[in-house]
Amino acid sequence: MTAAASRVLVLNSGSSSVKYQLLDMRTLQRLATGLVERIGEEGARLVHTPLNGGAERERTGEFADHAAALRAVAEELSADGLGLDSPELAAIGHRVVHGGLSFTEPTVIDEEVLTEIERLVPLAPLHNPANLLGIRTARELRPDLPQVAVFDTAFHTTMPEYAARYALDAKTADAHRIRRYGFHGTSHAFVSRAAAALLGKDPGETNLIVLHLGNGASASAVRGGSCVDTSMGLTPLEGLVMGTRSGDIDPAVIFHLMRNAGMDAGEVDDLLNKRSGLIGLCGANDMREIQRRIEEGDAAARLAFEIYVHRLKKYLGAYYAVLGRVDAVVFTAGVGENAAPVREAALSGLEGLGLEVDAELNAVRSKEPRLISPAGARVAVAVVPTDEELEIAHQTYALVSAE
Ligand code: ADP
Repeated sequence: MTAAASRVLVLNSGSSSVKYQLLDMRTLQRLATGLVERIGEEGARLVHTPLNGGAERERTGEFADHAAALRAVAEELSADGLGLDSPELAAIGHRVVHGGLSFTEPTVIDEEVLTEIERLVPLAPLHNPANLLGIRTARELRPDLPQVAVFDTAFHTTMPEYAARYALDAKTADAHRIRRYGFHGTSHAFVSRAAAALLGKDPGETNLIVLHLGNGASASAVRGGSCVDTSMGLTPLEGLVMGTRSGDIDPAVIFHLMRNAGMDAGEVDDLLNKRSGLIGLCGANDMREIQRRIEEGDAAARLAFEIYVHRLKKYLGAYYAVLGRVDAVVFTAGVGENAAPVREAALSGLEGLGLEVDAELNAVRSKEPRLISPAGARVAVAVVPTDEELEIAHQTYALVSAE
Protein backbone atom coordinates (compact mmCIF):
# COMPACT_ATOMS: atom_id res chain seq x y z
CA MET A 1 0.00 0.00 0.00
CA THR A 2 1.35 3.44 -0.91
CA ALA A 3 1.50 6.13 1.74
CA ALA A 4 -1.19 8.10 -0.12
CA ALA A 5 -3.60 5.20 -0.22
CA SER A 6 -6.55 5.87 2.04
CA ARG A 7 -9.52 4.44 0.17
CA VAL A 8 -11.23 1.16 0.93
CA LEU A 9 -13.77 -0.55 -1.31
CA VAL A 10 -16.25 -2.60 0.71
CA LEU A 11 -17.94 -5.48 -1.11
CA ASN A 12 -20.90 -7.45 0.16
CA SER A 13 -21.49 -10.25 -2.34
CA GLY A 14 -24.73 -12.19 -2.10
CA SER A 15 -25.85 -15.07 -4.27
CA SER A 16 -27.46 -12.77 -6.84
CA SER A 17 -26.36 -9.32 -5.72
CA VAL A 18 -23.30 -7.24 -4.94
CA LYS A 19 -23.49 -4.16 -2.73
CA TYR A 20 -20.50 -1.85 -2.63
CA GLN A 21 -19.24 1.31 -1.01
CA LEU A 22 -16.04 3.21 -1.58
CA LEU A 23 -14.87 5.10 1.50
CA ASP A 24 -11.99 7.44 2.21
CA MET A 25 -10.65 6.46 5.61
CA ARG A 26 -8.77 9.72 6.14
CA THR A 27 -11.85 11.89 5.77
CA LEU A 28 -14.41 9.13 6.52
CA GLN A 29 -16.24 10.30 3.41
CA ARG A 30 -18.30 7.94 1.34
CA LEU A 31 -17.15 8.46 -2.26
CA ALA A 32 -19.58 6.12 -4.03
CA THR A 33 -22.15 3.49 -3.23
CA GLY A 34 -24.05 1.06 -5.37
CA LEU A 35 -25.77 -2.21 -5.90
CA VAL A 36 -25.95 -4.83 -8.63
CA GLU A 37 -29.00 -7.03 -8.28
CA ARG A 38 -30.49 -10.08 -10.00
CA ILE A 39 -27.05 -11.16 -11.29
CA GLY A 40 -27.46 -13.99 -13.78
CA GLU A 41 -31.21 -13.41 -13.95
CA GLU A 42 -33.49 -11.47 -16.22
CA GLY A 43 -33.87 -7.82 -15.25
CA ALA A 44 -30.38 -7.55 -13.74
CA ARG A 45 -29.41 -3.97 -12.97
CA LEU A 46 -26.68 -1.86 -11.50
CA VAL A 47 -27.47 1.32 -9.62
CA HIS A 48 -24.44 3.51 -8.93
CA THR A 49 -24.55 6.60 -6.76
CA PRO A 50 -21.54 8.89 -6.93
CA LEU A 51 -21.41 11.04 -3.84
CA ASN A 52 -19.59 13.98 -5.40
CA GLY A 53 -22.84 15.60 -6.43
CA GLY A 54 -23.27 13.45 -9.53
CA ALA A 55 -26.60 11.90 -10.46
CA GLU A 56 -27.45 8.25 -9.82
CA ARG A 57 -26.71 6.03 -12.85
CA GLU A 58 -28.41 2.80 -13.80
CA ARG A 59 -27.45 -0.04 -16.17
CA THR A 60 -29.70 -2.95 -16.96
CA GLY A 61 -29.75 -6.43 -18.41
CA GLU A 62 -26.11 -7.37 -18.92
CA PHE A 63 -24.68 -9.17 -15.90
CA ALA A 64 -24.31 -12.89 -16.55
CA ASP A 65 -22.24 -13.54 -13.42
CA HIS A 66 -20.37 -11.91 -10.54
CA ALA A 67 -17.35 -11.26 -12.76
CA ALA A 68 -19.46 -9.27 -15.23
CA ALA A 69 -21.12 -7.41 -12.36
CA LEU A 70 -17.84 -6.44 -10.71
CA ARG A 71 -16.32 -5.38 -14.03
CA ALA A 72 -19.27 -3.04 -14.49
CA VAL A 73 -18.82 -1.69 -10.96
CA ALA A 74 -15.14 -1.04 -11.73
CA GLU A 75 -16.16 0.85 -14.91
CA GLU A 76 -18.65 3.00 -13.01
CA LEU A 77 -16.02 3.84 -10.39
CA SER A 78 -13.50 4.67 -13.16
CA ALA A 79 -16.01 7.00 -14.79
CA ASP A 80 -15.96 9.00 -11.53
CA GLY A 81 -12.15 8.98 -11.40
CA LEU A 82 -12.26 6.40 -8.59
CA GLY A 83 -11.11 3.32 -10.54
CA LEU A 84 -9.80 0.14 -8.96
CA ASP A 85 -6.41 0.92 -10.53
CA SER A 86 -6.08 4.14 -8.51
CA PRO A 87 -2.98 4.31 -6.26
CA GLU A 88 -5.32 5.76 -3.63
CA LEU A 89 -7.09 2.45 -3.21
CA ALA A 90 -5.55 0.80 -0.13
CA ALA A 91 -7.57 -2.40 0.00
CA ILE A 92 -10.82 -4.19 -0.67
CA GLY A 93 -12.80 -5.33 2.39
CA HIS A 94 -15.17 -8.26 1.90
CA ARG A 95 -18.06 -9.18 4.13
CA VAL A 96 -17.92 -12.92 4.80
CA VAL A 97 -20.84 -14.42 6.66
CA HIS A 98 -19.33 -17.49 8.31
CA GLY A 99 -15.86 -17.65 9.77
CA GLY A 100 -16.61 -20.58 12.07
CA LEU A 101 -14.06 -20.94 14.83
CA SER A 102 -11.24 -20.41 12.33
CA PHE A 103 -11.50 -16.64 12.05
CA THR A 104 -11.68 -14.50 15.16
CA GLU A 105 -10.31 -11.37 13.48
CA PRO A 106 -10.41 -9.66 10.09
CA THR A 107 -7.94 -11.53 7.92
CA VAL A 108 -5.85 -10.67 4.86
CA ILE A 109 -6.95 -13.05 2.13
CA ASP A 110 -4.59 -15.57 0.56
CA GLU A 111 -5.11 -19.03 -0.95
CA GLU A 112 -5.06 -20.66 2.48
CA VAL A 113 -7.76 -18.31 3.77
CA LEU A 114 -9.90 -19.02 0.69
CA THR A 115 -9.58 -22.76 1.31
CA GLU A 116 -10.67 -22.30 4.91
CA ILE A 117 -13.71 -20.16 3.94
CA GLU A 118 -14.56 -22.91 1.45
CA ARG A 119 -14.31 -25.52 4.23
CA LEU A 120 -16.96 -23.55 6.14
CA VAL A 121 -19.49 -23.71 3.27
CA PRO A 122 -21.57 -26.49 4.92
CA LEU A 123 -22.22 -24.08 7.81
CA ALA A 124 -23.41 -21.28 5.49
CA PRO A 125 -24.37 -22.96 2.22
CA LEU A 126 -26.07 -19.91 0.74
CA HIS A 127 -23.74 -17.17 1.90
CA ASN A 128 -20.13 -18.33 1.92
CA PRO A 129 -20.11 -19.48 -1.75
CA ALA A 130 -21.45 -16.08 -2.81
CA ASN A 131 -18.88 -14.28 -0.65
CA LEU A 132 -16.14 -16.44 -2.20
CA LEU A 133 -17.30 -15.60 -5.71
CA GLY A 134 -16.99 -11.90 -4.93
CA ILE A 135 -13.54 -12.34 -3.41
CA ARG A 136 -12.21 -14.44 -6.30
CA THR A 137 -13.51 -11.97 -8.88
CA ALA A 138 -12.06 -8.98 -7.03
CA ARG A 139 -8.71 -10.76 -6.75
CA GLU A 140 -8.70 -11.31 -10.51
CA LEU A 141 -9.36 -7.61 -11.08
CA ARG A 142 -6.63 -6.48 -8.65
CA PRO A 143 -4.32 -9.43 -7.81
CA ASP A 144 -1.72 -7.14 -6.24
CA LEU A 145 -4.09 -5.34 -3.86
CA PRO A 146 -4.55 -6.46 -0.24
CA GLN A 147 -8.01 -7.91 0.23
CA VAL A 148 -9.43 -8.50 3.67
CA ALA A 149 -12.22 -10.79 4.87
CA VAL A 150 -14.36 -9.40 7.70
CA PHE A 151 -16.53 -12.10 9.27
CA ASP A 152 -20.08 -11.72 10.61
CA THR A 153 -19.28 -14.34 13.24
CA ALA A 154 -15.94 -12.95 14.47
CA PHE A 155 -17.28 -10.61 17.18
CA HIS A 156 -19.04 -13.54 18.82
CA THR A 157 -16.01 -15.82 19.08
CA THR A 158 -15.37 -14.41 22.58
CA MET A 159 -18.51 -16.15 23.87
CA PRO A 160 -17.65 -18.55 26.70
CA GLU A 161 -18.13 -22.24 25.93
CA TYR A 162 -21.15 -22.45 28.23
CA ALA A 163 -22.94 -19.86 26.07
CA ALA A 164 -21.72 -21.20 22.74
CA ARG A 165 -22.41 -24.92 23.19
CA TYR A 166 -25.80 -26.55 22.80
CA ALA A 167 -26.71 -29.25 25.30
CA LEU A 168 -26.37 -31.85 22.55
CA ASP A 169 -24.46 -35.10 22.57
CA ALA A 170 -20.92 -33.71 22.53
CA LYS A 171 -19.49 -36.20 20.02
CA THR A 172 -22.24 -35.50 17.48
CA ALA A 173 -21.91 -31.76 17.99
CA ASP A 174 -18.13 -31.85 17.53
CA ALA A 175 -18.27 -34.12 14.49
CA HIS A 176 -20.58 -31.67 12.71
CA ARG A 177 -19.20 -28.40 14.15
CA ILE A 178 -22.57 -27.72 15.77
CA ARG A 179 -22.44 -24.81 18.20
CA ARG A 180 -23.72 -21.26 18.46
CA TYR A 181 -21.70 -18.93 16.22
CA GLY A 182 -23.87 -15.77 16.09
CA PHE A 183 -24.17 -13.31 13.21
CA HIS A 184 -24.48 -9.53 12.57
CA GLY A 185 -21.11 -9.32 14.37
CA THR A 186 -19.80 -6.26 12.51
CA SER A 187 -22.96 -4.41 13.48
CA HIS A 188 -22.80 -5.49 17.14
CA ALA A 189 -19.11 -4.45 17.23
CA PHE A 190 -19.72 -1.05 15.62
CA VAL A 191 -22.76 -0.27 17.74
CA SER A 192 -21.07 -1.36 20.99
CA ARG A 193 -18.17 1.02 20.42
CA ALA A 194 -20.45 3.88 19.32
CA ALA A 195 -22.72 3.34 22.35
CA ALA A 196 -19.76 3.47 24.75
CA ALA A 197 -18.69 6.74 23.08
CA LEU A 198 -22.22 8.11 23.47
CA LEU A 199 -22.13 7.23 27.17
CA GLY A 200 -18.67 8.81 27.46
CA LYS A 201 -17.28 5.52 28.77
CA ASP A 202 -14.35 3.29 27.94
CA PRO A 203 -15.72 0.33 25.89
CA GLY A 204 -13.61 -1.95 28.10
CA GLU A 205 -15.70 -0.94 31.10
CA THR A 206 -19.12 -0.85 29.47
CA ASN A 207 -21.79 -3.55 29.66
CA LEU A 208 -24.41 -3.46 26.95
CA ILE A 209 -27.42 -5.30 25.60
CA VAL A 210 -27.41 -4.63 21.86
CA LEU A 211 -30.61 -5.23 19.90
CA HIS A 212 -30.00 -5.35 16.14
CA LEU A 213 -33.54 -5.31 14.77
CA GLY A 214 -33.57 -5.32 10.98
CA ASN A 215 -35.31 -7.78 8.73
CA GLY A 216 -33.01 -10.28 10.39
CA ALA A 217 -32.71 -9.60 14.11
CA SER A 218 -30.31 -10.52 16.89
CA ALA A 219 -29.53 -9.54 20.45
CA SER A 220 -26.16 -9.68 22.13
CA ALA A 221 -24.82 -9.29 25.64
CA VAL A 222 -21.54 -7.37 25.56
CA ARG A 223 -19.31 -7.19 28.62
CA GLY A 224 -16.41 -4.75 28.47
CA GLY A 225 -16.43 -4.67 24.67
CA SER A 226 -16.57 -8.47 24.24
CA CYS A 227 -19.58 -10.53 23.31
CA VAL A 228 -20.60 -12.98 26.03
CA ASP A 229 -23.86 -14.19 24.50
CA THR A 230 -25.89 -13.70 21.35
CA SER A 231 -29.28 -14.87 20.15
CA MET A 232 -28.42 -16.32 16.73
CA GLY A 233 -26.91 -19.78 16.74
CA LEU A 234 -25.54 -22.32 14.28
CA THR A 235 -27.45 -20.31 11.68
CA PRO A 236 -29.28 -16.96 11.74
CA LEU A 237 -32.57 -18.76 12.43
CA GLU A 238 -32.34 -18.89 16.23
CA GLY A 239 -33.44 -16.21 18.66
CA LEU A 240 -35.69 -13.22 18.12
CA VAL A 241 -38.79 -13.13 15.95
CA MET A 242 -37.67 -11.72 12.58
CA GLY A 243 -39.24 -10.46 9.38
CA THR A 244 -39.57 -13.93 7.86
CA ARG A 245 -37.79 -16.25 10.37
CA SER A 246 -39.42 -17.88 13.38
CA GLY A 247 -36.50 -17.45 15.78
CA ASP A 248 -36.64 -19.79 18.81
CA ILE A 249 -38.97 -22.73 18.39
CA ASP A 250 -39.27 -26.17 19.98
CA PRO A 251 -37.16 -28.38 17.66
CA ALA A 252 -39.86 -31.04 17.95
CA VAL A 253 -42.07 -28.81 15.75
CA ILE A 254 -39.81 -29.90 12.89
CA PHE A 255 -40.26 -33.64 13.54
CA HIS A 256 -43.97 -33.06 14.00
CA LEU A 257 -44.25 -31.36 10.60
CA MET A 258 -42.16 -34.05 8.90
CA ARG A 259 -44.22 -36.86 10.44
CA ASN A 260 -47.65 -35.30 10.21
CA ALA A 261 -47.65 -32.67 7.48
CA GLY A 262 -45.65 -34.64 4.90
CA MET A 263 -42.98 -31.95 4.71
CA ASP A 264 -39.34 -32.80 3.96
CA ALA A 265 -36.32 -31.06 5.48
CA GLY A 266 -36.12 -28.52 2.65
CA GLU A 267 -39.76 -27.55 3.04
CA VAL A 268 -39.45 -27.08 6.79
CA ASP A 269 -36.27 -25.07 6.24
CA ASP A 270 -38.17 -22.83 3.81
CA LEU A 271 -41.11 -22.52 6.21
CA LEU A 272 -39.01 -21.48 9.20
CA ASN A 273 -36.66 -19.16 7.30
CA LYS A 274 -38.91 -17.56 4.70
CA ARG A 275 -42.55 -17.99 5.66
CA SER A 276 -42.53 -17.54 9.44
CA GLY A 277 -41.77 -14.62 11.77
CA LEU A 278 -43.82 -11.48 11.19
CA ILE A 279 -44.76 -12.39 7.62
CA GLY A 280 -46.01 -15.81 8.67
CA LEU A 281 -48.00 -14.37 11.54
CA CYS A 282 -49.72 -11.51 9.76
CA GLY A 283 -48.71 -11.41 6.10
CA ALA A 284 -46.38 -8.40 6.42
CA ASN A 285 -42.72 -8.24 7.43
CA ASP A 286 -42.25 -4.48 7.30
CA MET A 287 -42.79 -2.93 10.73
CA ARG A 288 -44.21 0.23 9.13
CA GLU A 289 -46.91 -1.81 7.43
CA ILE A 290 -47.61 -3.70 10.65
CA GLN A 291 -48.03 -0.45 12.56
CA ARG A 292 -50.41 0.86 9.89
CA ARG A 293 -52.46 -2.32 10.09
CA ILE A 294 -52.61 -2.19 13.90
CA GLU A 295 -54.01 1.33 13.67
CA GLU A 296 -56.69 0.00 11.31
CA GLY A 297 -57.63 -2.60 13.93
CA ASP A 298 -56.01 -5.66 12.30
CA ALA A 299 -55.93 -8.35 15.02
CA ALA A 300 -53.29 -10.54 13.31
CA ALA A 301 -50.91 -7.57 13.01
CA ARG A 302 -51.48 -6.71 16.69
CA LEU A 303 -50.72 -10.28 17.75
CA ALA A 304 -47.61 -10.43 15.53
CA PHE A 305 -46.36 -7.22 17.17
CA GLU A 306 -47.06 -8.61 20.64
CA ILE A 307 -45.21 -11.87 19.92
CA TYR A 308 -42.26 -9.90 18.50
CA VAL A 309 -42.07 -7.63 21.55
CA HIS A 310 -42.60 -10.45 24.06
CA ARG A 311 -39.60 -12.34 22.64
CA LEU A 312 -37.49 -9.16 22.74
CA LYS A 313 -38.40 -8.61 26.37
CA LYS A 314 -37.45 -12.19 27.27
CA TYR A 315 -34.00 -11.73 25.72
CA LEU A 316 -33.58 -8.41 27.53
CA GLY A 317 -34.30 -10.12 30.83
CA ALA A 318 -32.02 -13.04 30.03
CA TYR A 319 -29.09 -10.84 29.03
CA TYR A 320 -29.63 -8.55 32.00
CA ALA A 321 -29.16 -11.62 34.18
CA VAL A 322 -26.13 -12.79 32.16
CA LEU A 323 -24.42 -9.41 32.55
CA GLY A 324 -25.44 -8.66 36.13
CA ARG A 325 -24.77 -4.96 35.60
CA VAL A 326 -26.03 -3.20 32.47
CA ASP A 327 -24.93 0.30 31.44
CA ALA A 328 -27.21 0.57 28.42
CA VAL A 329 -29.72 -1.16 26.20
CA VAL A 330 -28.97 -0.18 22.61
CA PHE A 331 -31.38 -0.34 19.66
CA THR A 332 -30.10 -0.46 16.09
CA ALA A 333 -30.93 -1.41 12.44
CA GLY A 334 -34.13 -0.63 10.50
CA VAL A 335 -36.67 -1.44 13.22
CA GLY A 336 -34.46 -0.56 16.18
CA GLU A 337 -33.54 2.85 14.75
CA ASN A 338 -36.97 3.81 13.49
CA ALA A 339 -39.79 2.01 15.27
CA ALA A 340 -40.44 4.00 18.46
CA PRO A 341 -43.46 1.82 19.40
CA VAL A 342 -41.26 -1.31 19.40
CA ARG A 343 -38.71 0.36 21.70
CA GLU A 344 -41.42 1.61 24.02
CA ALA A 345 -43.25 -1.73 24.18
CA ALA A 346 -40.06 -3.78 24.66
CA LEU A 347 -39.10 -1.76 27.74
CA SER A 348 -42.53 -1.17 29.24
CA GLY A 349 -42.91 -2.51 32.76
CA LEU A 350 -39.15 -2.84 33.29
CA GLU A 351 -38.77 0.16 35.62
CA GLY A 352 -37.83 -2.30 38.36
CA LEU A 353 -34.70 -3.11 36.33
CA GLY A 354 -33.91 0.60 36.01
CA LEU A 355 -35.12 0.63 32.40
CA GLU A 356 -37.30 3.49 31.23
CA VAL A 357 -38.00 5.29 27.96
CA ASP A 358 -38.74 9.01 27.80
CA ALA A 359 -41.72 9.33 25.42
CA GLU A 360 -40.56 12.64 23.93
CA LEU A 361 -36.98 11.53 23.35
CA ASN A 362 -38.22 8.22 21.93
CA ALA A 363 -40.34 10.07 19.36
CA VAL A 364 -37.38 12.07 17.97
CA ARG A 365 -36.33 10.96 14.47
CA SER A 366 -32.62 11.30 13.85
CA LYS A 367 -29.68 9.63 12.14
CA GLU A 368 -27.45 10.39 15.14
CA PRO A 369 -26.70 8.19 18.15
CA ARG A 370 -28.93 9.37 20.98
CA LEU A 371 -30.28 8.56 24.44
CA ILE A 372 -34.00 7.94 24.85
CA SER A 373 -34.00 7.24 28.61
CA PRO A 374 -34.94 10.02 31.05
CA ALA A 375 -32.10 11.99 32.65
CA GLY A 376 -30.74 10.17 35.69
CA ALA A 377 -32.07 6.75 34.64
CA ARG A 378 -30.20 3.86 36.29
CA VAL A 379 -29.68 2.14 32.93
CA ALA A 380 -29.35 4.19 29.74
CA VAL A 381 -31.44 3.34 26.69
CA ALA A 382 -29.87 4.40 23.39
CA VAL A 383 -30.57 4.39 19.68
CA VAL A 384 -27.37 4.01 17.67
CA PRO A 385 -27.57 3.79 13.86
CA THR A 386 -25.47 0.92 12.62
CA ASP A 387 -22.99 1.17 9.75
CA GLU A 388 -21.67 -2.24 8.80
CA GLU A 389 -19.85 -0.97 5.70
CA LEU A 390 -17.96 1.64 7.71
CA GLU A 391 -17.02 -1.02 10.28
CA ILE A 392 -15.76 -3.36 7.52
CA ALA A 393 -13.79 -0.46 6.02
CA HIS A 394 -12.33 0.43 9.44
CA GLN A 395 -11.26 -3.11 10.20
CA THR A 396 -9.82 -3.54 6.69
CA TYR A 397 -7.91 -0.27 6.78
CA ALA A 398 -6.58 -0.88 10.29
CA LEU A 399 -5.24 -4.25 9.20
CA VAL A 400 -3.54 -3.11 5.98
CA SER A 401 -2.18 0.07 7.57
CA ALA A 402 -0.52 -2.00 10.29
CA GLU A 403 1.30 -4.26 7.79
P1 ADP B 1 -31.80 -5.74 6.70
O1 ADP B 1 -30.44 -5.08 6.53
O2 ADP B 1 -31.84 -6.84 7.72
O3 ADP B 1 -32.50 -6.08 5.43
P2 ADP B 1 -32.67 -3.20 7.82
O4 ADP B 1 -31.79 -3.04 9.01
O5 ADP B 1 -32.50 -2.27 6.68
O6 ADP B 1 -32.74 -4.70 7.35
O7 ADP B 1 -34.20 -3.11 8.34
C1 ADP B 1 -35.26 -3.26 7.46
C2 ADP B 1 -36.55 -3.24 8.26
O8 ADP B 1 -36.60 -2.05 9.06
C3 ADP B 1 -37.81 -3.15 7.39
O9 ADP B 1 -38.25 -4.43 7.01
C4 ADP B 1 -38.79 -2.49 8.32
O10 ADP B 1 -39.47 -3.48 9.07
C5 ADP B 1 -37.95 -1.70 9.28
N1 ADP B 1 -38.08 -0.24 9.10
C6 ADP B 1 -37.40 0.56 8.26
N2 ADP B 1 -37.81 1.84 8.41
C7 ADP B 1 -38.76 1.85 9.36
C8 ADP B 1 -39.58 2.84 9.97
N3 ADP B 1 -39.49 4.12 9.61
N4 ADP B 1 -40.44 2.47 10.92
C9 ADP B 1 -40.55 1.19 11.31
N5 ADP B 1 -39.80 0.19 10.78
C10 ADP B 1 -38.92 0.52 9.82
